[in-house]
Amino acid sequence: MIFNNHLFLLLFVFILGLCLGSFANVLIFRIPKNLSIIKPGSTCPSCKNTIKWFHNIPVISYILLKGKCGYCGTKISLQYPLIEIFTAFSFLLIFIKSNTITEFLFISVFVYILIVISVIDYYYFIIPDFFSISLIPLGILFSIFNKTFEDSIMVQISNSVLGAVFGFLLLILISFVGKIIFKKEAMGLGDTKLMSGIGAFLGVKGVILTLFLGSLSATMTSIVLIYIMKTKKWNDYIPFGPFLSLGSFLTVFLCYLL
Ligand SMILES: [Zn+2]
Repeated sequence: MIFNNHLFLLLFVFILGLCLGSFANVLIFRIPKNLSIIKPGSTCPSCKNTIKWFHNIPVISYILLKGKCGYCGTKISLQYPLIEIFTAFSFLLIFIKSNTITEFLFISVFVYILIVISVIDYYYFIIPDFFSISLIPLGILFSIFNKTFEDSIMVQISNSVLGAVFGFLLLILISFVGKIIFKKEAMGLGDTKLMSGIGAFLGVKGVILTLFLGSLSATMTSIVLIYIMKTKKWNDYIPFGPFLSLGSFLTVFLCYLL
């Protein structure tokens, strides 16, 4: 706990999460299409009208407009408010559980990038390099400023660098073995770079725990999709990025915030 969790501060963190969640939606929509994230302002994908600022307030506008565009009445995906709310609650949880302000800032950025990566991978089966690779320097910076553990800075930095290298090599190895066994691309290079970034934040042990939790959640989800909901078949591609992100989301709490 950083401060004594003044209600005003908690509210500020929550609203910040809502606004950044709204920006995450912009990133998710525009980055895979190579569109500028600044210009033009938000437009309705259906009628192309510019969305007025008061129609663009996170969650509240969605409720007031009953999930429809203010101009043409086209349904707005539930994804928008869900991502806003998820980001806000993540930030709030990280804030309450953080020991220092540095921890709060770095872990929030880490989780934020994971949210964006997960949704992009879910829709487009790609993980933009910009996000996965930027996790590596961010993770190393975190190891320099992090005061959660009593290790010396050199130990922390080498933990972070080793984690990044280990994450990268481990997933290269898994995709190599997977290719031999399944005779097709089981894991993309995007997952490998993402795991390297996760390793920079969580170290070697964090990579192992992330891979374990990620594989476990991916297996359980696949079983549900294939055998219970019957919406996927055995040889359908299921992106691994969201599960790696979920695994590291849980690991970051186990490592830093418990
Ligand atoms: Zn519209």
